[in-house]
Amino acid sequence: MDTKTINCYEKMGIQTLINASETYTNLGGSLMEPETIESMKEAGKHFVNYMEFRDAVCRHCATLTKNDAAFITTGAAAGLELTTAACMCENNMESMEKLPDTKDFQKNEIIVLDGKFLTIIPYWKLIGLTGAKIIKVKPDINSLKEAINEKTAACVFFPASLYERDIPKCEELIPEIKKLGVKIIVDAAAQLPPISNLWYYTKTLGADLAVFSGGKHIKGPQCTGLIVGDEHLISICKMLASPNEKLGRGFKTGKEELAGFVTALELFISADDKKRFDRQKKQLEKIEEMIQKAFLPELYPIKMWMQEEGRLGTYQPLLLISLPEGMTARECNEYTRALETAVDIGVYQPEFEMPENIIFLNAYNLKEGEEIIVANSVIGYIQKSLS
Ligand SMILES: *Cc1c(COP(=O)(O)O)cnc(C)c1O
Repeated sequence: MDTKTINCYEKMGIQTLINASETYTNLGGSLMEPETIESMKEAGKHFVNYMEFRDAVCRHCATLTKNDAAFITTGAAAGLELTTAACMCENNMESMEKLPDTKDFQKNEIIVLDGKFLTIIPYWKLIGLTGAKIIKVKPDINSLKEAINEKTAACVFFPASLYERDIPKCEELIPEIKKLGVKIIVDAAAQLPPISNLWYYTKTLGADLAVFSGGKHIKGPQCTGLIVGDEHLISICKMLASPNEKLGRGFKTGKEELAGFVTALELFISADDKKRFDRQKKQLEKIEEMIQKAFLPELYPIKMWMQEEGRLGTYQPLLLISLPEGMTARECNEYTRALETAVDIGVYQPEFEMPENIIFLNAYNLKEGEEIIVANSVIGYIQKSLS
């Protein structure tokens, strides 16, 4: 095709890129499926009773995710604020009007574990915007139990494998804390797939609430997020959220986002985890094969291996490549990002404590055929560095 249509990015002088790394918000998260875009377009064509539509969509999302209740908000971050606020207001509905001034609340403390991860994912700080007092507790069960008192509104846990390194895991914490009758919120923003995680934290482990990002693995509109769990607490989240003029008025989901999200969730859930995994693995194997062929193994042995787990412990394959001596992942990324067809390859952040010459490739966001471009971009970098 020679007629190149000017797209919204080109018009602004912004280059698009191929995402072989992650569902990073900074890259645009993920791409919606055509059906999702179509349902947003449809939604934009009609007026509707917004509240009725929202409630119907939320009920449907609860059913789809096998939870008692669900609420759609503008992201997992908004979900974290709404859920913690809801736990503080649970025993006194009038207190909703006072947020974020919580000084005379019966319960205004939110506990998080004081792990190394707090510096890696500062999302926990957002809890403070609700007016909650954030209590950081030494990451072991006994310290946690000791910290819990009559002011404790909830404990918030972050289950990603990287964040749970060296601290007790949700599987151990949730049943113990639940016995004490304290509310538990799980920030599972990026903990998908498997699909079953949508009900695992709440239904299997017993957390009161869990939040997920709608714009990451679910491939919904970028500005969506999902709260699932306890019906009563979710009804409070709803009261706190837009269009009500309370703490969550700034988190406004439009009819288009609701329509897009529910379509994306249907697609995400109706797909088969294993098939999705295998499709990605096939693309990664193609990349592995192309790189293998491009370099004589006697001269330039390039070590590659398939990891059957995502960076944060999710069910997805990753291809790890150990670049020849002297090359670094960061430099490789700079090279591939500067190509005419720019590619973002995976660079581990320092907290992963990976050697600096290891790159990771993730096919979650790769379209059919893009694996060829990704492979060639990495080959190009290695060749340039060897010459
Ligand atoms: C991405 C992420 C969030 C934020 O999710 P949004 O949907 O972008 O608001 C919150 N917590 C964790 C652990 C995340 O990975």
